[in-house]
Amino acid sequence: MVNNDALNPDKHKVGLEIHQQLDSKNKLFCNCKITDSTKHDFTFKRILHPTQSEMGSYDQAAIFESKKIRTVKYLSSRTSNCLIESDEEPPELVNAEALELVLTISLALHCTIEDELHVMRKIVIDGSNTTGFQRTILVGRNGYLDVDGVRVGIQSICLEEDAARIVNEDKDNENDTKIFALDRLGIPLIEIALDPISNTPLFVTNVAQTIGRLLRATKKVARGLGSIRQDVNISTNGGAVVEVKGVQQLSQLALVIEYEAKRQDGLNQIAKELKDRKIDESKFLDSITDVTDFMKLSTSKIVKKILSGDSRFMGFVLRDFSGLLSFEPYPGIRLGKELGEVAKSYGIGGIFHSDELPNYGITAEEVKSLSSILKINKNDAFVLVGGPSVLVNSVISELSNRIRRAFSGVVAETRSVRLDGVTVFSRPRPGSSRMYPETDIPYISINEHRLEELSKNIPRPWNEVIDQICKKYLINRTLAENIFDSQYFSLFENIVSHTSVNPSFIISKLTEDLVSLERQGYDISILTHNNLFYLFEQLEKSKISKESISIILEKLLRKEGGSIDEIIRSFGSEGVTEEDIDGIIQKIIAENENIISQKGMDSMGLLMGRCMSILRGKVDGEKINKKLVTKLTEHLEGSKGSKM
Ligand SMILES: [Zn+2]
Repeated sequence: MVNNDALNPDKHKVGLEIHQQLDSKNKLFCNCKITDSTKHDFTFKRILHPTQSEMGSYDQAAIFESKKIRTVKYLSSRTSNCLIESDEEPPELVNAEALELVLTISLALHCTIEDELHVMRKIVIDGSNTTGFQRTILVGRNGYLDVDGVRVGIQSICLEEDAARIVNEDKDNENDTKIFALDRLGIPLIEIALDPISNTPLFVTNVAQTIGRLLRATKKVARGLGSIRQDVNISTNGGAVVEVKGVQQLSQLALVIEYEAKRQDGLNQIAKELKDRKIDESKFLDSITDVTDFMKLSTSKIVKKILSGDSRFMGFVLRDFSGLLSFEPYPGIRLGKELGEVAKSYGIGGIFHSDELPNYGITAEEVKSLSSILKINKNDAFVLVGGPSVLVNSVISELSNRIRRAFSGVVAETRSVRLDGVTVFSRPRPGSSRMYPETDIPYISINEHRLEELSKNIPRPWNEVIDQICKKYLINRTLAENIFDSQYFSLFENIVSHTSVNPSFIISKLTEDLVSLERQGYDISILTHNNLFYLFEQLEKSKISKESISIILEKLLRKEGGSIDEIIRSFGSEGVTEEDIDGIIQKIIAENENIISQKGMDSMGLLMGRCMSILRGKVDGEKINKKLVTKLTEHLEGSKGSKM
């Protein structure tokens, strides 16, 4: 059943929060350099336990995190960290360069700026800050921007410190230790929060793009994957607000909004079904039973794996739920899947329900026995939860909470996002009263005069910026927009100022070629700006040909062929002499004598193809073409001569 009404923009409110790293020399509250650190000089551990006062009045998210027993390990590097990131020393004064930039952007977005700026602490419970809080400064409020003739309100603009970078997020983490690298912790970030928008996903994308371009026009923000992250708050028909965190690519935004629109509408349909069945909200859950001994007899590999450690299997019954856990109002939207995600957030993958059994090596016979052990009736469903003994009870109570909330449809929660726009549960939504003043840093006073000075730095409108790039580099608008929107704009300017390589050519390599390689599944973030610069420098010195650049890029991404120099050596024109090229062309002409005598100069295309198949990447195509024309002309004239 597909209900396109779910995508009607009037039904949704979408709030955007844009986080962009600033391209500052130093971190926000210390003098550490901003650099990625892959090597780590020392590590230390903390155990997560939010204190009572920090948890506020029953903050769902804090309680949720505290139920999971978590140790956090931090990786620290001398090149990007000092004692401030480890919370061993108090912070220093606010980075003035970063503050000026955020003030300037606040002015550009017509915000009201307070006379006094105060550093606040925002509680963070997931271990991503060593202090347990994130420092943030509210700089501007109540601004706006106009996009496609529609005015969009800006709620607030803050200057914040970035959190630590999680290292083991994707792995199935059996031993519940989270690992964070501290290189990113403390990088200045601007956070721009917009008023909720009721408009199409495309419009929301345009808003994000407009703000991204304004930020880039300052030339003082970081670029590249992870340097801009959007949090998207989505609610349907005034229902609960779902927060999707960490949307890194503009192209994901519309996908996320569409997916959530369907998911939330689907959850409302599931709630309606629960009501239609007249299921009693207070007593649907029944018969919680330890079925470990029975499950130990199963031959299912998954079950055996789950039971290999100190683990248990618990089962419980959902009265009158038969068929509801796999009821699928939209493809992939099921209550059973929502429950699986909640269990997974505890690191427990072992959850099975009767709607999907027999499966996973659990036989029909076993399902029958379980039904009788759990005393289920024809209309009931059951759920099995298998995992570490210390966690199973917490997970069951969390699952029963989640099922209870399914009666009212959408649940307020924080979700993460995949590249295809599909969102995944990560935790309940934190409450709002999580701020308190930072006592280690004095407030900053802002006077009118300073603001007047800063307003002179407001970046010019996007169109003018692009016009100027077109003029400066003699390129068309599309190329100018592509390079300016990419993470390589400063690299591009750098290459142009140090080489005589054609700007359009550089842009086509840095945008089209890299985008196409990324679409093929390569992780282009491993290509450093230094490597890319080096390639164009080698081209300038005629050490490599134009054609070889794409091939070298692909080799680098495939991580084969060794270092960049080794790859260049195997592809470079060094080693291929003029005589070699002449020899190869001569040989190809000789091999294709018949075709040449029939087609004359029209055989150029075919011969060029043969030459390139041998010399591609080693010698510039234009050069081969020239030589081939000369040789072929000589050959044809020679054969004419011999016929006479
Ligand atoms: Zn530091």
